Amino acid sequence: MIKVENLHKHFGGFHAVDGASLEIAPGSITGLIGPNGAGKTTLFNVIAGVHSPTSGRVTMAGEDITGLPPHELFHKGLLRTFQIAHEFSSMTVRENLMMVPGGQHGETLWNTWFGRKRIAEEERALLAKADEVLEFLTIDHLKDEKAGNLSGGQKKLLELGRTMMVDAKIVFLDEVGAGVNRTLLMTIADAILRLNRERNYTFVVIEHDMDFIGKICDPVICMAEGKVLAEGTLAEIKANEQVIEAYLGT
Ligand code: ADP
Repeated sequence: MIKVENLHKHFGGFHAVDGASLEIAPGSITGLIGPNGAGKTTLFNVIAGVHSPTSGRVTMAGEDITGLPPHELFHKGLLRTFQIAHEFSSMTVRENLMMVPGGQHGETLWNTWFGRKRIAEEERALLAKADEVLEFLTIDHLKDEKAGNLSGGQKKLLELGRTMMVDAKIVFLDEVGAGVNRTLLMTIADAILRLNRERNYTFVVIEHDMDFIGKICDPVICMAEGKVLAEGTLAEIKANEQVIEAYLGT
């Protein structure tokens, strides 16, 4: 689904991503692990159009998407989740979901004049979709809560929910488990698994929690120093000498 070929991202003389090549199979949940500073987030940001690469190529289903801006990738169904921005924290959970752009017709003057009925219908559809997403993620009881009051894990579920408001094909999740309690982490793992199985989402997940990786990810890719060090099942990765030396042994 995604093919990354010999990707480089340099910040001045520093090679954050230094010739990384990898493939993400459609329908997979790929785990991306590696020590801090390995270049995982930078790789995500280059694939998702946040940074343009210094060199290299990214294709999605054979189409060259190298350096495309996030909004174009968004329309192709490639999404990278971001923390709920400060300005959305005073909005409710449901309002946050409804803010996700999805080709609504309310934006143009033409539609304001002539399309009131259609806008009302679309708003109803958006509301119904938001409620369906909240139910799927088992956070419907939080729908009127301000996003800023959610716990870290609940915010992660909301971030995941935002990807469900558009028809995402591949979702990049960065550090799902950071600061999230174990019960909620497993709820997030379940939501990812269900989105993968029931809605055919492909995921790439950066995570340090090995239980979480073990529960949902196959394959696992380990990066170090801007390159891909190894790829395999978690068991294979854990037994890999280079991975132990660069990451697990530290
Ligand atoms: P990881 O996600 O594996 O911890 P990162 O991709 O965040 O690694 O970072 C890789 C390296 O690139 C780090 O040493 C980091 O300091 C550096 N880096 C990341 N973003 C920038 C930037 N915008 N400018 C300069 N250096 C950066």
